[in-house]
Amino acid sequence: MNKINLEGRKAIVTGGARGIGYAICQRLTGSGARCVIWDRDEEAAHEAARSLSGAEAIAVDVTREESVEEAKLATSAKVGGIDILVNNAGIAGCSKKLWECTPEEWQEVLQIDLFGVYLCCRALVPGMIANSYGRVVNIASIAGKEGNPNASHYSAAKAGVIGLTKSLAKECAQDGVIVNCITPAVIETDILKQISQEHIDYMLSRIPMGRFGLTEEAAALTAWLCSEDCSFTTGGVFDLSGGRATY
Ligand code: NDP
Repeated sequence: MNKINLEGRKAIVTGGARGIGYAICQRLTGSGARCVIWDRDEEAAHEAARSLSGAEAIAVDVTREESVEEAKLATSAKVGGIDILVNNAGIAGCSKKLWECTPEEWQEVLQIDLFGVYLCCRALVPGMIANSYGRVVNIASIAGKEGNPNASHYSAAKAGVIGLTKSLAKECAQDGVIVNCITPAVIETDILKQISQEHIDYMLSRIPMGRFGLTEEAAALTAWLCSEDCSFTTGGVFDLSGGRATY
């Protein structure tokens, strides 16, 4: 049986300094890819890159067009063209009912979790099309399929990521660029510090397997979606929910 082979491939993982993004970087570099971590936490990004063989770090705020463009140029200078983009940077935002969220709280989640994905795809997909090869994986969430209570901003943003994935996939389906997303249920990372224990308990209670997902499990699925083995699947929404998702 062949292992996932990413030899010679160059990847960007946004939000790769910690959590799911870091596990994805571990898995991609372990499969032979060179990985550039794009994260707004510069120190953590550099520390993460130092801990991996074949990784670099660049500070970027995915919500700012000029920051994304600068990071794209810096990445190109370091590694050249990009084959793989994993849009993983995200926040959970506050655990509040829709009418309790301020417009600023609501907007912030949409800006990072949805607009940031658009900006990074906009910056990098044309280069993949020009090269007739690319793999894009967007980290959405089960919240985008089902809607979690006390997370209307997050659920709406992640539903948007699912829609963006399906649209973009069709736009470059004949250009060698494959675009998919994954929809994890709750995974124990720093993101959980942003939300209430009640909300975490709710999400855990919905999982038939009765446990948190693991960052490594998200990385394993993502690595396959980043590989040449994933060749006839685009616009797909991949479940990672311990049985919670029913469609
Ligand atoms: P973490 O908080 O552990 O890591 C997210 C990383 O993204 C952090 O380093 C964070 O920096 C960075 N980031 C946030 N905003 C920006 C920005 N504007 N520009 C660049 N980097 C940014 O989260 P997870 O690993 O848990 O989550 C990763 C992804 O997976 C997110 O999209 C999340 O929505 C999704 N997901 C997570 C689930 C979970 O239960 N953990 C379940 C389903 C989906 P900083 O620390 O400064 O914010």
